[in-house]
Amino acid sequence: MSYDPNNIFAKILRGEIPCKKVYEDTHALAFHDIRPQAPTHVLVIPKGPYVSFDDFSAKASAAEIAGFVAAVGKVARDLGVATSGYRLIANHGANSHQEVPHFHVHILGGRALGPMLVK
Ligand code: AMP
Repeated sequence: MSYDPNNIFAKILRGEIPCKKVYEDTHALAFHDIRPQAPTHVLVIPKGPYVSFDDFSAKASAAEIAGFVAAVGKVARDLGVATSGYRLIANHGANSHQEVPHFHVHILGGRALGPMLVK
């Protein structure tokens, strides 16, 4: 699947639509999910044009990968969920129900999250 530069997160990165920004650095942008599934639900996206984790892990540079992973950890700590616990989710492809074709990690926390999968 090729990268669609008109996906909603690409538009957020270009500043064409707003987001509730939590953090930004060279490699990553973090913002609140528009339909939160937990008291803390933040999305972290890389700045480069990667469709999903599969694409990112295969094509991103070592600096992009290191920067992105560091940003996810920092955002979780800054949100205050590192001590209470959190879950990371990265959906890839049809079976995962990935909706937005720009790689993103969900940080979920703020309450006991229950079992990993409902069914
Ligand atoms: P996924 O199913 O992993 O692709 O998740 C996409 C997520 O993006 C969903 O949790 C949506 O609620 C969220 N989302 C969609 N549009 C926006 C937006 N404009 N701002 C913030 N979050 C969004």
